[in-house]
Amino acid sequence: MRYAIIGGGAAGCALAWHLTQNGHQVVVYERWNGLGGLASEIPFGKTSLDRFYHHIFTSDRHVLAFAEMTGLSDKLRWCDSSVGFEHQGKLYPFTTPKDLLTFSPLPFLSRFRVGLAVLRMRRRESYADLESVTAEDFIIREMGESAYRVLWEPLLRSKFGDSYREVSAVWFWGKIKLRGGTRSKKGGESLGYMKDGWAQIYQRMGEAIQRRGGEFRFREIVKRVSRTPEGLSVKTRSSEDVYDRVISTPSIPSFLEIAEGLPEDYRSQLGRVRYQANVCLALGLKHAISPYYWLNVTHPESPFVAVIDHTRLFDDPDYGESRPVYLSRYLDADHPYYSMRQPELIDTFLDGLEKIFPRFSRDWVETVEASKAEFAQPVIGLHYSKQKPAFTTPIEGLYLCTMAQIYPEDRGMNYALKTAEELLLELGEIKRLSA
Ligand SMILES: Cc1cc2nc3c(=O)[nH]c(=O)nc-3n(C[C@H](O)[C@H](O)[C@H](O)COP(=O)(O)OP(=O)(O)OC[C@H]3O[C@@H](n4cnc5c(N)ncnc54)[C@H](O)[C@@H]3O)c2cc1C
Repeated sequence: MRYAIIGGGAAGCALAWHLTQNGHQVVVYERWNGLGGLASEIPFGKTSLDRFYHHIFTSDRHVLAFAEMTGLSDKLRWCDSSVGFEHQGKLYPFTTPKDLLTFSPLPFLSRFRVGLAVLRMRRRESYADLESVTAEDFIIREMGESAYRVLWEPLLRSKFGDSYREVSAVWFWGKIKLRGGTRSKKGGESLGYMKDGWAQIYQRMGEAIQRRGGEFRFREIVKRVSRTPEGLSVKTRSSEDVYDRVISTPSIPSFLEIAEGLPEDYRSQLGRVRYQANVCLALGLKHAISPYYWLNVTHPESPFVAVIDHTRLFDDPDYGESRPVYLSRYLDADHPYYSMRQPELIDTFLDGLEKIFPRFSRDWVETVEASKAEFAQPVIGLHYSKQKPAFTTPIEGLYLCTMAQIYPEDRGMNYALKTAEELLLELGEIKRLSA
């Protein structure tokens, strides 16, 4: 069968990997010049770094399976994570249960209440009754008002911007459960990183796909997919080809833009899926800046919501003299930061960094790479199981395999790989998931 896959991110690579293994003719269209999508890389020192920060959890079995299948398991490192929490300009450790019990911005009893609620959430298996409850109502009910205002409201706001009050308790539960499952023996968090960056997995998958006869069309943006008497036509600026099946992996808005002939009710149903964008600076600094790998920044005036001091998780002599540090901000795509010119954006973020770390000086900055993604995180609202798009579409042979189909878990590389395999299972192309 002739397959076209739109997008060379984790999902597109997993689809092409299996389909070429089954002897199908596969063409992958990718608008950028390489594989990995949101998990693609930038050069850093003598090696590469993720464009957007990425780590995995011990439960991310599909990433582990693909690392194994591509011969990259020996580059995986499990590292002790450390988390900090900025509250009213002061930094607090927030990694272990002991850190929670000594977290002074919360009243003493409230800290216990949070700890007990987190334990209950980790043990919870079913989420059906959480579908009709917002994260806000759920947290207030389970942990109390002060825990919500001090801890969780700023975190929800930092991830979902103005939409934070619509987020479902299911999303919150999924997040707590996932992180709870990735504990080290000391009670801290154990996170996985791949030396030289995650994009290698997708590059290795790409090499195998090509060896099996698959084709990549880089820097080709799919402009239109439509049904013709001969099959499904995929049109870019420079080509038009016909396939038996087409699988679209980019966001829902991108799909709606290119798919022709979709019924109006289906379009409006899909159009309800909303996303948050992300703006991320990857800095190369002369010195370490934060005592933590991951610092949640809750100050309302901070331009970013997290400082990720990568070498606090994984250090590599190949980074050279510079230390990679990310500054990340989730936002609506119509927020001024999203369209701000790079020099102004960098200036604004560095101003924010000076406020949190007064000893930071701009002459520490050796390199800066600014990246943005318009569709970085779907907003998971109430009853999302009813909104979640199906793999099949009203156009025969045209399938969706995208981040917005990941539920109840939060989106991530692991679930992009898994969702791709679930679609292939449905199409009868594989008999079981690889993990
Ligand atoms: C800031 C940030 C931090 C993250 N941190 C983590 C983390 O720590 N751990 C983790 O596991 N995950 C993390 N993720 C999520 C992870 O990156 C994604 O879930 C995963 O990479 C999504 O893969 P995908 O293939 O579904 O989508 P994408 O990676 O978005 O791939 C879609 C591809 O389609 C291409 N494309 C789009 N439109 C067209 C078109 N018209 N024609 C041709 N090509 C097109 C795009 O260029 C892209 O390559 C993070 C994401 C962000 C934004």
